[in-house]
Amino acid sequence: MAAKTYPLDRAQLEALTRTYPTPFHLYDEKAIRANARALQAAFAWNDGFKEFFAVKAAPNPYLIKILAEEGFGADCSSLPELTLSDRVNVRGESIMFTSNDTPAKEYRAAAELGAIINLDDISHIAYLEETVGLPDLVCCRYNPGPLKAGNVIIGHPEEAKYGFTREQLFEGYRLLRDKGITRFGLHTMVASNELDATYFTETAHLLFDLVVELSRELGITFEFVNLGGGIGIPYRPEEEAIDLTALGQNVKGVYDAIIGASDHPPLKIYLECGRMVTGPYGYLVSRVLHMKHTYKAFVGLDACMTHLMRPALYGAYHHITVVGKEAAPVDRTYDVTGSLCENNDKFAIDRALPLMEAGDLVVIHDAGAHGHAMGFNYNGKLRSAELLLRESGDVVQIRRAETVDDYFATLDFDGLDGFKA
Ligand SMILES: *Cc1c(COP(=O)(O)O)cnc(C)c1O
Repeated sequence: MAAKTYPLDRAQLEALTRTYPTPFHLYDEKAIRANARALQAAFAWNDGFKEFFAVKAAPNPYLIKILAEEGFGADCSSLPELTLSDRVNVRGESIMFTSNDTPAKEYRAAAELGAIINLDDISHIAYLEETVGLPDLVCCRYNPGPLKAGNVIIGHPEEAKYGFTREQLFEGYRLLRDKGITRFGLHTMVASNELDATYFTETAHLLFDLVVELSRELGITFEFVNLGGGIGIPYRPEEEAIDLTALGQNVKGVYDAIIGASDHPPLKIYLECGRMVTGPYGYLVSRVLHMKHTYKAFVGLDACMTHLMRPALYGAYHHITVVGKEAAPVDRTYDVTGSLCENNDKFAIDRALPLMEAGDLVVIHDAGAHGHAMGFNYNGKLRSAELLLRESGDVVQIRRAETVDDYFATLDFDGLDGFKA
């Protein structure tokens, strides 16, 4: 069971909304740090273990800075994400640049920061060499194809656009070796929001086996394997979080059996999780604007899918708490909607909730990753603020809400004067 609580009480939340109008995203620093430490502890047996926080999950420099202090690096996939990491002094081999269909200028920016470059395709070896030059350390992304079953969000690996085939990996590392590269890593990412821990030990097994095979065949050694991200979180109260300690120990078991028993030197284990790092510790706080009763009963919030797209995008469940009504009987059924002119703009459909009324404050749980980050401006909707609850209990704004001026910032209204329609 995953408890769906939130870190402030009703009076504190109400007070906060007087300074920062709803909707806003609120992150809990203390919980994020405790979770980061639990992940570090689970893999402390592995010398050189590192988690590279997937910046796309919550691209806020304050959060990246907190995580960097906990020893995390950054997993970036675009120029702005690289810039964000650089701005909080996360650079060099603390950045994993895992991109695909990558433009040369992004490879160049990654190389200039000294990031670990993770190649998505065999053709990128020549592309990188010709445009930017090859770095000392190169990682390749493996797509196991039919060798591994995929999961719901990421789909079947053989349908996925990412990574090298098995044959291409042998060819690719041989090519890199022959070009004088001496430092290697191996990466894969085949799951997303996966709550079955065996998935990750199977992935580790697959990569450790491959490291041994590649090193024997090509006479090269690897510095690390990157098991990717994708550790799931219990969005539903009845789901169970992955036991990180057990996961760490199970990966250790596979490591000892394969790498430990081989003549390959010790390998560092890397992860690039986003969701499990901040997801459960971020909340979208919104207020009920209207109650509407037609063929169904609707709760209209002042937030919409531009603030949290997952429910509308893939029917994802996000738990909703009505502040102050935690103990009230759950005897109503509502669709909880936003104001977008899209009928799928619903945070919940046929959700059992207590009796609600206009003015109620609601907390939408597990919005701390792939939440604000996936925001967009369709329908002239403005992105919300992001707030951080510090360990001291203070709340600081780590991103202000967008304004109408921000929305129009890329338009040149003055140009309209000389423009003949
Ligand atoms: C999205 C992504 C991640 C992070 O995934 P989570 O599900 O947030 O852990 C890590 N690596 C790559 C390459 C990704 O695309």
